[in-house]
Amino acid sequence: MQDKLKAFVKLAEIDASARHLEEQLEGIPVELEERRVAVEALEQLVHSQKREMDEAEALMTAQDEDLKLRSDMLSRSKAKGAKARNMREAEAAERELDAIRRSIKEGEAEKERLQGVIEQSRSILAEPLRELEEQKQNLAEAEAASEGRLAELRAERDVITAGRKEASGKIPKPIFRRYERLRTQIHPTLTEAKDGVCMGCRIQIAPQLYNQIIKGDDFYQCQACQRFLYHADVVAD
Ligand SMILES: [Zn+2]
Repeated sequence: MQDKLKAFVKLAEIDASARHLEEQLEGIPVELEERRVAVEALEQLVHSQKREMDEAEALMTAQDEDLKLRSDMLSRSKAKGAKARNMREAEAAERELDAIRRSIKEGEAEKERLQGVIEQSRSILAEPLRELEEQKQNLAEAEAASEGRLAELRAERDVITAGRKEASGKIPKPIFRRYERLRTQIHPTLTEAKDGVCMGCRIQIAPQLYNQIIKGDDFYQCQACQRFLYHADVVAD
């Protein structure tokens, strides 16, 4: 039994020293995903604002073409007025000219309004667009760098956990499985029982259980935190 408990302590030591690597291995993809989500959100926001500007620009182009047509109409109408043969025709031509001039004036006012909208959108968008480009570039760099970093971390972990298989092979399978399950929730998963206290959660261990842990005749868990417990004397050489 002492050998099994020693192997258990060895296993827990290996896991504790690989822990910071495991955390980084798990954390890097999570962090990247969070950044991807943030960049996508910004991109959507910027693009919906940009669509409004594109629409205003399209209206502006249409307005320009319309104004050209009206200006042609004005020339034609002027030519017609010059050819008026009597007062009635001259007055009619004058009314037509007035109407065209009014519509040109309205068109120009609309064009000015659109210009204002476009200029405002452009100035509002400048900073978010720059920010978006910067974030995209940073993300691409982080993604590229993380590939190498993950490979490094995996290699480091493989070195640290080299003796893990041997140690875990000496532990009863049901205990090992329980340990592995617990390891996803609580760290360290195996801890010392000292002076009647679980060193993991600092809660007093029931006296009978503590006596059994001192004897070291089986695998025991803390009733409060579920950590596996051992007593230093049992695993001492
Ligand atoms: Zn505990």
